[in-house]
Amino acid sequence: MIKVMIDPGHAPGNANKGPTGYYEYQGVWKISTYLKEILQAKGMQADFSRTWDENPEPFARGQKAKGYNLFISEHTNAYNGTVRGVEVYYDYNKPQDDEFANKLASSVASVMGNTNRGAKTRVYTESGIIYNYYGVIRGAAATDCKHILLVENGFHDNEQDEAFLKINENLRIIAQTQAKVIYEYLNMENLTVQEAEKIIQSKTGIDDNTMQYLKFYKFNESLLLKLAKAMK
Ligand SMILES: [Zn+2]
Repeated sequence: MIKVMIDPGHAPGNANKGPTGYYEYQGVWKISTYLKEILQAKGMQADFSRTWDENPEPFARGQKAKGYNLFISEHTNAYNGTVRGVEVYYDYNKPQDDEFANKLASSVASVMGNTNRGAKTRVYTESGIIYNYYGVIRGAAATDCKHILLVENGFHDNEQDEAFLKINENLRIIAQTQAKVIYEYLNMENLTVQEAEKIIQSKTGIDDNTMQYLKFYKFNESLLLKLAKAMK
């Protein structure tokens, strides 16, 4: 089963807020809760890094990623009140996640009617060693988790973004589009040969006999998976 660890960024008491009453810890809790429900309804396992009033350190939150296919930390951003947009950070040591992070950023930006600021990494160097800047990403990167993402769903200190984030239904729409990207990406990555065969046959109309010929090929399994992924 595909497993997703969701990290609702910040706990009650956190001061991050918008100009007219939005609080980041409340907004991202709702996004996380919707996301969990939607992923579970799609047949995936989804869990939280913390309960409502627990507030583990970022690194400890990240370590909850152990044994999961994806760790995703939910946030809304703040800068100078005028900047808008959606960005998704990933582990600098996993360059293959640039595509996943970008898909997530562009889909959230699109439902928000917002700018896509894209997929990013952020690091610092200490004694010649490179570290991920964000503690949650550092913690998750210390586990076996394959994909580590931190989503900044707009800038809550911008009035336009805040107005969007103050509406519950909009938070559900953000979760829904995130769930769609996550489901498609992880499902495609964990595709079985049987599922690949079905995709190939439905897309090409190749009959059962021809499929049998394909399966005589020595490397048929990797070929079928490659073909199915290209067709999706
Ligand atoms: Zn945050």
